[in-house]
Amino acid sequence: AKLEGGSRIIFFKAVMGETIKERYRIERELRHAITRNQLRMYVQPQWEGGCKPVGVEALIRWEHPQRGLILPGMFIPLAETSDLIVAVDRWMLDAVCRLLGRLERDQQLTRVSVNISPRHFQQPDFVEEVKRKLSLSGADPAQLVLEVTEGLVIGDFADVIAKMTELRAMGVHFSMDDFGTGYSSLAYLKRLPIHEIKIDKSFIQDITTNPNDAALVESIVAVAQHLHLQVVAEGVETPEQAAFLNRLGTIIHQGYLYGRPQPVEQWLEQISP
Ligand code: C2E
Ligand code: CA
Ligand code: CA
Ligand code: CA
Repeated sequence: AKLEGGSRIIFFKAVMGETIKERYRIERELRHAITRNQLRMYVQPQWEGGCKPVGVEALIRWEHPQRGLILPGMFIPLAETSDLIVAVDRWMLDAVCRLLGRLERDQQLTRVSVNISPRHFQQPDFVEEVKRKLSLSGADPAQLVLEVTEGLVIGDFADVIAKMTELRAMGVHFSMDDFGTGYSSLAYLKRLPIHEIKIDKSFIQDITTNPNDAALVESIVAVAQHLHLQVVAEGVETPEQAAFLNRLGTIIHQGYLYGRPQPVEQWLEQISP
């Protein structure tokens, strides 16, 4: 176990840009990871009002034959510097649509969320891709939640709106991820056809101990309610945090309090043994 930890540290340094040679190695290995079936879908539950499971967020993992299970923080940022992220995201979107196709008859779970990188969203055929994957899998578009970030808006704004509007018309939902960590989140709320904001875990962490964070989260929720947006709180770890959120309204909770990310097969067995 010690050795494995050691090699992970080397891997991490490389991702952080230690040497160009290392970056190339990881990019090459990641490309192979897709074709050699080393990517894994993990899921983390989302509970409405902290009391009723409504869905999951899909989170990627890389099961490396030598290095073990690698968290996305170790390879997604590097993948995002090139079109490699498009291939990774496409793999995940495919897996998510197939999961939704299988879940369709389950009444209890209404949604699966998936992270969409800006570069993926910006592909000219993004809307076509989503349509194709939904129809091939037989998934209900209304159960798909695409988690996007502010980074999206760096591109052609009119194009972003057009794509979101087209997908929204099919029933697909959009969630603004990492809300509050960017620069002009409030302005985007007004202009983008989104259904939901996801308050970043860095704000939830200290809501019960830091009055400033508490005030911020209260304000964000108030604004979202005025705009009729669903709110998801990420990183809920304690019953106290859950109680705080419940006082603000019907929020979807996600965090270790309800479950850690787990392999999708394991989760499927749990919900229908
Ligand atoms: P994110 O979208 O903000 O996802 C939430 C992260 O918080 C996840 O980390 C999750 O495991 C972690 N988390 C959830 N609940 C708790 C909690 O109660 N406490 C704490 N401390 N952490 C919690 P993870 O799985 O390591 O993912 C990291 C990031 O990688 C994600 O952040 C997302 O930006 C990115 N990512 C993951 N999967 C994909 C993917 O398929 N495509 C793309 N483009 N990005 C992905
Ligand atoms: Ca997310
Ligand atoms: Ca986040
Ligand atoms: Ca994110």
